[in-house]
Amino acid sequence: MNLEYTVNRIHCIHPFGISRSTHNYYDIVYVYIERDGIIGRGEAAPSDRYNESTDNILSVLKNGITLNEDMVKSNIFFEKLLPQCNGLKSLEVALSMALLDWHCQALGIPLYQFFKADPEMTPLTSYTISIGNRDLIIDKIKESNPFSILKVKLGVSEEEDKETISLIRDKTDKTIRVDANEGWDLETGKRMSFWLADRNVEFIEQPFQSTNLKDTALLRNVSPLPLIADENSINSRDIPSLVDVFDGINIKLMKCGNLYEALEMIKLARKFKMKIMLGCMIESSVAITAASHLSPLVDYADLDGNLLIEDDPYQGVTVKNGRLKLPKEHGLGVKLKHTKNKDLQ
Ligand SMILES: [Mg+2]
Repeated sequence: MNLEYTVNRIHCIHPFGISRSTHNYYDIVYVYIERDGIIGRGEAAPSDRYNESTDNILSVLKNGITLNEDMVKSNIFFEKLLPQCNGLKSLEVALSMALLDWHCQALGIPLYQFFKADPEMTPLTSYTISIGNRDLIIDKIKESNPFSILKVKLGVSEEEDKETISLIRDKTDKTIRVDANEGWDLETGKRMSFWLADRNVEFIEQPFQSTNLKDTALLRNVSPLPLIADENSINSRDIPSLVDVFDGINIKLMKCGNLYEALEMIKLARKFKMKIMLGCMIESSVAITAASHLSPLVDYADLDGNLLIEDDPYQGVTVKNGRLKLPKEHGLGVKLKHTKNKDLQ
């Protein structure tokens, strides 16, 4: 199997702000696995929160990766391919995506069929309103029209967080999910949980720092809203320690490392009767479509990273009436759109 790769810059429609950073663009790495005229595509969107960068990824890829078709089997993937990724989860997931895209195209099935997922059972997906200029929030509410759920980034300060929610509530009564991105302390979390519960908010994601499970458990005892783990829920090994602390987990491919690990997280969370959300970073349609193929297996989707960028080079999953609509083509079902980057395939 031949492996090629390229770096591509994707630009945000609006500056993307969360409690700890603001970005105007992100650099991602595409990997392409080719054999017998079939190209499998994968995407790595490295996050500095997890100490990953395109430079780390390129240095591993430049050293060379040995690939073969057997690695599509999860045990062989874990044994032979994973150790070559040097612990870089976004690279791992890109390679697992590309292998499965290739494999499912060769088999002549869409990826959701490989996961035994029913394409008619995709959840509603939310549209993210990030932290930033207040005037932009009004524009973002207008842009969220096809979506019935808003995910609002909070965690700045109690006063500003309340202003943001009040501004949005003034314009729309859509369901809101909030993400504090580790930005609150216990007292703020307690006050906010009651305040938000009166404003048609569905749940709170990651109220406190990931190191602070103690306060998270205390908040859960009193919060009228469910708590969902994100920064605390990296992979399946984290889940047992979250059972009495959070009500659910947010799975992101770029954190957990590969599509087999994401399936394991789904299995384990179900066993512990926890709610499951599939989330994303700012990513293009390659990675968002890969995650979308898993979405019929989960409760909530927050897969809008591709809709927050202005120059997505690919098309794949779409959103219809707020629900993810999976492509029926074989493999991932992604196609290259018109692009200036000649290295894209
Ligand atoms: Mg989050």
